[in-house]
Amino acid sequence: MSDSSHTSDDTAALYTQHVAHNYSTPAISLVRGEGTWVWDSNGKKYLDFASGIAVNAIGHAHPTWVKRISEQAAKLVHVSNLYRNEPQGKLAAKLAKYCGAGRVLFCNSGAEANEALLKLARLHGKKKSGAEGKCFGVVVAERAFHGRTFGGMSATPQEKIQNGFRPLLTGFSAAPLNDIKAWDKAISATETAAVLLETIQGEGGVFVAEPAFLRDLQALCKVRNVLFLIDEIQCGIGRAGKFFAYEYSGVKPDAIAMAKGLGGGFPIGAIWMAPPHDELFQPGSHGTTFGGGALAATAALAVLEVIEGEKLLARVEAQSPAWHEALNGLAKKYPALIKEVRGLGYMVGVAMNVDPLPVVAALREAGLLAVPASGIAIRLLPPLNASTAELAESVKIFDRVLAGVKTA
Ligand SMILES: *Cc1c(COP(=O)(O)O)cnc(C)c1O
Repeated sequence: MSDSSHTSDDTAALYTQHVAHNYSTPAISLVRGEGTWVWDSNGKKYLDFASGIAVNAIGHAHPTWVKRISEQAAKLVHVSNLYRNEPQGKLAAKLAKYCGAGRVLFCNSGAEANEALLKLARLHGKKKSGAEGKCFGVVVAERAFHGRTFGGMSATPQEKIQNGFRPLLTGFSAAPLNDIKAWDKAISATETAAVLLETIQGEGGVFVAEPAFLRDLQALCKVRNVLFLIDEIQCGIGRAGKFFAYEYSGVKPDAIAMAKGLGGGFPIGAIWMAPPHDELFQPGSHGTTFGGGALAATAALAVLEVIEGEKLLARVEAQSPAWHEALNGLAKKYPALIKEVRGLGYMVGVAMNVDPLPVVAALREAGLLAVPASGIAIRLLPPLNASTAELAESVKIFDRVLAGVKTA
């Protein structure tokens, strides 16, 4: 039997004995990656449409990225924020090109970026009401995912995330995505400091915020002096075909959280803040030892260099319609298995009528890595530089696997 889901390598044994049990046991050990492909410890090759959960924006081991971080590692890795480092300044300036005038605060992950947004909301609420602890409400979307820290969990209205960790932060309420009337009711001019939502919900099952809804919500926020905070941690950095997915709607967020794709695999998170909110954080009000380190900022600069140099935004926009169409073809061919295909660009959710987990396992066996979402969908998240042949290959593998799925 050459069932690669039962690896007997040392890594598996070490995981069994020593690695914490907060993840379900991984079926394979990955040892190498190149472009859109990864290899496991048995030498088996996979088309990587998991991309480290929407992280590896330019695939594995891109030569420019490798060169830039290797050179920087030999020069200067970390100095803390007691001192300036050149890559952090350059990266902030570069992000301002995509976000607009304003300021960037660096951190190390998505959850940390959202923590910074929540602290920004508190400072805004204090300024707005004239006192601390009066105006701190945050309205989030149902099915949202904003991370696993206490702030992130509090902003994530899902029982499976919050269970066991209460009491959480207070002041959070949830309204259904794309239902402006519900948000109108949920947002209080005196008690709400901010709304926080993903332009495309990822972990929740790939649900897109409609452009008209985002525009109406922003207008509502302006009237009630409520911060319009957008979590682009998963859908940003080109994944949806624009640098940020909210750009399709023409809204201008007051602040944006980003992480996943930004470092191309090197951990980095950031928030961008629009004026005048970018002055809310003052010396001493927030900080992190590692945030904006020279090596992390260099990795992000390399990702942006490749996105721009290889015109990847245009490429995602140009290539995704045919790929989506092919996936929709599968939905037509297997109506008992596929409910619908959702998403934008290279952030696709294949909503299933059956449990996605065994299908994801079968896809892996067949050589395609994908990510389940909320027990309802299978996410396909190719790197932005995936070739048309690789996109077509993903559909072929999916087709082959679905043909073998038994329905009850
Ligand atoms: C992944 C994710 C987070 C959390 O990011 P971490 O780096 O895992 O802390 C927050 N929001 C969204 C939308 C995400 O997809």
